Amino acid sequence: MESGIPSLPEVSHRLFRGSVTGPEYHSDALSDNGLFHSRLPRFVPRRAQQEMALEVGRVLAEGGTLVAESGTGTGKTYAYLVPVIEQGVRAVISTGTRHLQDQIFHRDISEVGRVLGRSVNAVMLKGRSNYLCRYRLRQAMSQTSLTGDDDPALAEIARWAASTREGDIAEMQGVGEQAPVWRLVTSTSDNCLGGKCPEHAGCHVMKARQKALQGDIVVVNHHLFLSDRTLKDDGFGELLPHCDAVIFDEAHSLPSVASDFFGFSLSSFQLEELCRDVVVAEREEGSAVDFADALPAMTRAVVQVNTALHGSQEQILDHGVLDEIPFRQSLDQLNRSLESLRASLELAAPAGEALDKCHQRAVHLQGLLDEWAHGRDRNLVRWLSRSRQWFRLRATPLRIDARFREMMQHARSWIFTSATLAVGNDFSAYTTQLGIDGSQRCWGSPYDFRSRSLLYLPASMPDPRDKEYPDRMTAVIQDVLEASRGRAFCLFTSYGMMNRIHTKLRDRLPWPMLLQGEAPRSELMDRFRQSGDAVLFGTASFWEGVDVPGEALSCVIIDRLPFAAPSDPVLKSRLRACEEEGGNPFMDIQVPAAVQALKQGAGRLIRSEQDRGVLVICDPRIRTSRYGALFLQSLPPMPTCERIEDVTRFFQ
Ligand code: SF4
Repeated sequence: MESGIPSLPEVSHRLFRGSVTGPEYHSDALSDNGLFHSRLPRFVPRRAQQEMALEVGRVLAEGGTLVAESGTGTGKTYAYLVPVIEQGVRAVISTGTRHLQDQIFHRDISEVGRVLGRSVNAVMLKGRSNYLCRYRLRQAMSQTSLTGDDDPALAEIARWAASTREGDIAEMQGVGEQAPVWRLVTSTSDNCLGGKCPEHAGCHVMKARQKALQGDIVVVNHHLFLSDRTLKDDGFGELLPHCDAVIFDEAHSLPSVASDFFGFSLSSFQLEELCRDVVVAEREEGSAVDFADALPAMTRAVVQVNTALHGSQEQILDHGVLDEIPFRQSLDQLNRSLESLRASLELAAPAGEALDKCHQRAVHLQGLLDEWAHGRDRNLVRWLSRSRQWFRLRATPLRIDARFREMMQHARSWIFTSATLAVGNDFSAYTTQLGIDGSQRCWGSPYDFRSRSLLYLPASMPDPRDKEYPDRMTAVIQDVLEASRGRAFCLFTSYGMMNRIHTKLRDRLPWPMLLQGEAPRSELMDRFRQSGDAVLFGTASFWEGVDVPGEALSCVIIDRLPFAAPSDPVLKSRLRACEEEGGNPFMDIQVPAAVQALKQGAGRLIRSEQDRGVLVICDPRIRTSRYGALFLQSLPPMPTCERIEDVTRFFQ
């Protein structure tokens, strides 16, 4: 990609610590007269960015922890990349989204390295499902030749497999990343044979990991980082012991990702996949053990659990459900079937590596089932999610602080940054969850919100629980869209409200009215950007990670303060635990989470210096409740109005 940077002589030396004098770190690279200003024509020096770079540099040089909120447009990626590259520390950078991971690796690191005149050995590491598994491809091909099923996608992958060096499935243009065939030819930590695999020498997953160990900067995402640390992925190279610093960008999503990784889950998919792999392994390695009873019994037991859950909610806490006799009986039956399969596999295991691995998986899954059924760990909330065809037994920790702190012993410097970490200027809700302390800094967005934005809080809105609320909100949204001439995101906290208002408005207004669910998210976003005056109706997944600079998005309308559903099983248990410990669950947990979500939603509006737009919050509690001030204090400094005429004037 053309970066616009005047070409610099290639510097081939390794990174060095030339900019650290004693414990102090100084850099003027990002200053008004610095290298970036002189070498990058579009670079705008920002005081917040310079301050953040110095603060990050200090923590990298001295060790410690920095929690930094940095508003949209601060340029926080450069603010940490400059000191990392200048000081030559070995760093792992972990992002919340794949989009940011790509941007940092493909664009930002090379740009910063070139401006600073440093060669940077950066590596991007993805999760194992992004790499071709040569062993499973071989198995899938032999299965196809046996059954005579001709799968053109599989044949195409086999042709590509013969020539690819990296084995990254993103290279394959002809087969989409979501295609079901990839499940057959990529590995999971469950089914990977590791060092015993006949394809180990040429394994793409292993090669990618070895390469990552050589990198000065390794770019990963939070899922991969935590799977390394929680050793949920055997054979991973353990990046942390090899790095000086860890930087979490989009750090606001870290607590929820960590909650998943510090717990465990057992799904019907894992059990069904084990059965399939046993069939293939037995055919290849031929132990002569008879699986004719054990495999169908497992399949029946999985169906029986699904049947016992029929008619239940999609997410269920263990309380109550576990006591229901049909469900308990179905779990007992599942346990017996798993034990019978495990016993058969124990006999078969000596016949080959694949059968041996299946045996280990059966032992592991049995352990998880036992742990879930008995719930011995009081820090784990046991719950389950389900649909008609599948179920997942899940255990999520009530608290993750101790585990997270323990993990932090492995590197000396830790940076947590995002545009949304604080409530007002208070980071305590975030830092308490992760059990971290250290310096905390908050830098607001450099964009001119006072003159380029407006916060519209419509007057005399009823309480969201009032039956009048949907009609009043529909009228408000219609008025606002007429003033903004479309060009808006309408963000809802529930599907019901989203669908209801979309149905009412779609034929009344002349602009394309896009609805979440009617097409994949990326396609909806493309249509939104291309249209220029579309309106998009969406729920949670559009509240963050969506970037539409320019006039196509001039208005963000939020239906109500985004409190998480109190029916969420883990939240419910955490609220109860907080109360039992004498805390105030609403103010300590629910309000901070909702403030963070609102900041994310509002953050979609102003994405560049030239943007201008209106944020509409229909929920009157932001003004009338005692906690409303916390929401208002956490938003950028926007002028506020209560009348639609002011909105109309803003857009004229
Ligand atoms: S080592 Fe694991 S990922 Fe690599 S080829 Fe073998 S099974 Fe696949």
